[in-house]
Amino acid sequence: MAIIGSGPAGVYAADILSKSQKKSDIEFSIDLFDRYPAPFGLIRYGVAPDHPRIKGIIKALHKVMDRGDIRLFGNVDVGTDITLEDLRRHYDAVIFATGAIKDAGLAIPGIELEGSFGAADFVSWYDGHPDYPRQWPLEAEKVAVIGNGNVALDVARVLSKHATDMLSTEIPDNVYQGLASSPVTDVHIFGRRGPAQVKFTPLELRELAHSRDVDIVLDEQDFEFDEASDEAIKSNNQVKTMVNTLANWLVEQEERTEEASRRLHMHFLHQPVEILEGTGDQAGKVAGVRFERMELDGAGGVRGTGEFLDYECHAVYRAVGYFGSPVDGVPFDERRGVIVNEAGRVLQDGEHIPGTYATGWIKRGPVGLIGHTKGDALETIGCLLEDVHHLPVAEDPREDAVVELLESRGVEFTTWDGWLQLDEHEVRLGEEATASGPVERERVKVVPREEMVRISRAVQATV
Ligand SMILES: Cc1cc2nc3c(=O)[nH]c(=O)nc-3n(C[C@H](O)[C@H](O)[C@H](O)COP(=O)(O)OP(=O)(O)OC[C@H]3O[C@@H](n4cnc5c(N)ncnc54)[C@H](O)[C@@H]3O)c2cc1C
Repeated sequence: MAIIGSGPAGVYAADILSKSQKKSDIEFSIDLFDRYPAPFGLIRYGVAPDHPRIKGIIKALHKVMDRGDIRLFGNVDVGTDITLEDLRRHYDAVIFATGAIKDAGLAIPGIELEGSFGAADFVSWYDGHPDYPRQWPLEAEKVAVIGNGNVALDVARVLSKHATDMLSTEIPDNVYQGLASSPVTDVHIFGRRGPAQVKFTPLELRELAHSRDVDIVLDEQDFEFDEASDEAIKSNNQVKTMVNTLANWLVEQEERTEEASRRLHMHFLHQPVEILEGTGDQAGKVAGVRFERMELDGAGGVRGTGEFLDYECHAVYRAVGYFGSPVDGVPFDERRGVIVNEAGRVLQDGEHIPGTYATGWIKRGPVGLIGHTKGDALETIGCLLEDVHHLPVAEDPREDAVVELLESRGVEFTTWDGWLQLDEHEVRLGEEATASGPVERERVKVVPREEMVRISRAVQATV
């Protein structure tokens, strides 16, 4: 079995598949491929560095991989280094767990201006993604973040936090230097709908208040609820908790006696309509954002009021969702950014392509927490096990065959042993930074792909 993607969905699928052998008479060998030299997908390259508890989920996935019954082939891009045809020759089934790494689009005028960014690109930068530039232009004092989900919160929190308060995390030096040079004073988060319709989760929202020397600023006007909001607050505990959190901040704001040096403003009922361009030597650059003021429509939605408001800012981040990428030869739904599937079985013209499956974000769309990918994997592997006696038989299923193929193509793949070495190296860098710096650091990430590959392959035993 080949699983493409070593994010949580891929590792959970491998784990469930491996354990299912005990319950049946079938023996599998499972290979996990990833285009990155290191495993764990968005846990490494999406989850914010100041979320060590969430990053800690890696420990559970690490245990699965450390059992030794699942092989890892990192630094292998499926579609480039190895094709679907190759995989079919060597495996009876292929499971795509390729997730998402790109931003969904936001089609408003001015989105292409200099200073207009996708949140996913910024996340990749601060999480030390090997394929993104090392420098990020943090030059704006006033910044807008468009979106009302957890990624918008992450981006706004990282932008507004003082860099020294990020130093204890695994951020690479270039990210610390970049954040430390930021002149930011005001970060504005804008949501289209009301406080009772946000897509945040309570824990992530509450965390905003933990940033030192950052005031949260709200507008009382946004807190006039309609019947649908009242109903949502009454019937949904998460909504109730979040609205209470926001309402408490509103009270605290009125009682505040000292001002912080940075502010995080939260605006609701603001629909972005245009990113405004500067004039003179600021032509081509972001100068602000125009919003239409929205109002609650009584039915859980919003409608425009015809009132337009301009906010000055010199950088805009759109955090309006991630979007999956297609893999060559695999049917892709361009509208939803997912592999076409039913319960994880990949479909072509409504028919299951034998031996082809999908799981995680690329199966369901880029929403939900890491834990949800376990449910995805259970469903997908359940389907595979139902089909197991009818899978197409691989022409050359020898375990060595794929190694020979990758070597013959000069692909510098990394393995689980290689990851252990890189992991140890990053922890050692953390110890060195702790010894010479002001705070304790558990790890410092290695960013350049060549360096990750070099460190991993230096000790790599055979797979
Ligand atoms: C910014 C951000 C912050 C988040 N924070 C949290 C949080 O705090 N808590 C939480 O529970 N969840 C969080 N999530 C959600 C969580 O990251 C996802 O639920 C989860 O990672 C989805 O898992 P996945 O395995 O489907 O995809 P991914 O994690 O995206 O993994 C997909 C893997 O497939 C690989 N891949 C893709 N294409 C190919 C190819 N062609 N060849 C080889 N390999 C390929 C990728 O390299 C990647 O490693 C966050 C998500 C984002 C974007």
